[in-house]
Amino acid sequence: MTAPNTSVLLIYTGGTIGMIENPETGALENFDFEHLQKHVPELLKFKFPIDTYQFDPPMDSSDMEPDMWQKLVRIIYENYDRYRGFVILHGTDTMAYTASALSFMLENLDKPVILTGSQLPIGVLRTDGKENLMTSIEIAAACNGEGKSLVPEVCIFFENHLMRGNRTTKLSAENFNAFGSFNYPVLAEAGIHIKYNNVQIHVNGERRKLIPHYLLDTNVAVLKLFPGIQEDVVATILEIKGLKALVLETYGSGNAPRKDWFIRRLCEASKRGVVIVNVTQCNAGTVEMERYETGYQLLQAGVVSGYDSTTESAIAKLMFLLGHGYSPEEVRLRMNRSIAGEITIQTEE
Ligand code: ASP
Repeated sequence: MTAPNTSVLLIYTGGTIGMIENPETGALENFDFEHLQKHVPELLKFKFPIDTYQFDPPMDSSDMEPDMWQKLVRIIYENYDRYRGFVILHGTDTMAYTASALSFMLENLDKPVILTGSQLPIGVLRTDGKENLMTSIEIAAACNGEGKSLVPEVCIFFENHLMRGNRTTKLSAENFNAFGSFNYPVLAEAGIHIKYNNVQIHVNGERRKLIPHYLLDTNVAVLKLFPGIQEDVVATILEIKGLKALVLETYGSGNAPRKDWFIRRLCEASKRGVVIVNVTQCNAGTVEMERYETGYQLLQAGVVSGYDSTTESAIAKLMFLLGHGYSPEEVRLRMNRSIAGEITIQTEE
């Protein structure tokens, strides 16, 4: 059900969903949000008001920067009491990063923040944008009999699936089914009815007040391992001036080459205070460094497990923790705790 007098704030940042083809060059360019509304007259069918906020100029999400995440947090915080929920229209390319960052920056969230976009612009005949937009708005406004939001989380809705934002990865530059959440079940599925997977949805039970966080530190990097990676490449990255943390994308369950130079370089960097987080290159599954010798040596070199985190979530979480001035040891500890349901930690019975 939808509570009476409820309204949703639709924030348009940019992305394919609101683009139009330039007749001369054929390239997709941003156009005014007014046009988007003209192409979706169905918006008028909602029985509650939908207010809009437009980024000016709208941006391709490849240009997304942490200061835009801060801007989004500010918009949500300043409008928090006036709306039942928020829908953010965003390009798909970096949507998983934005969703991850917002999940950490909006502490005690108890309203839906749904990011969505599309693979085809909304003016195009076979667009997936209308469906994504309409269902996202419906989910953002949905609440139970007591007027509490059904999904008080930062989510991505795409092609029938509502996913926890910090669990998502963009999978396809072609299919409408563009996002996956491999290590966490979907939060809702939209068919004739929207079926909510209530057991998996996090609820802010104590209803603490929303705390917006704005501090981020971008002195981080990602290094993806590949067979044949050279010492110079690893050394150059680990010695970047000011580097505070590295997401190391390893093989399988968190394994890496057993070369002496490799372990030595990681060990030296860890000792200097660089936080190194082990995230698997696999889409599904978790890092278990104790499982193979090739993983265990990383543990001994001071590398911490990223568990079943996506790279997008790990990098955003590092920026968030480092931004708050924690010591390397504290950041390592907090990387091994869940802040917003971004990792699965098996607790021993
Ligand atoms: N390049 C676009 C963007 O991420 C792609 C999209 O919207 O799907 O902004």
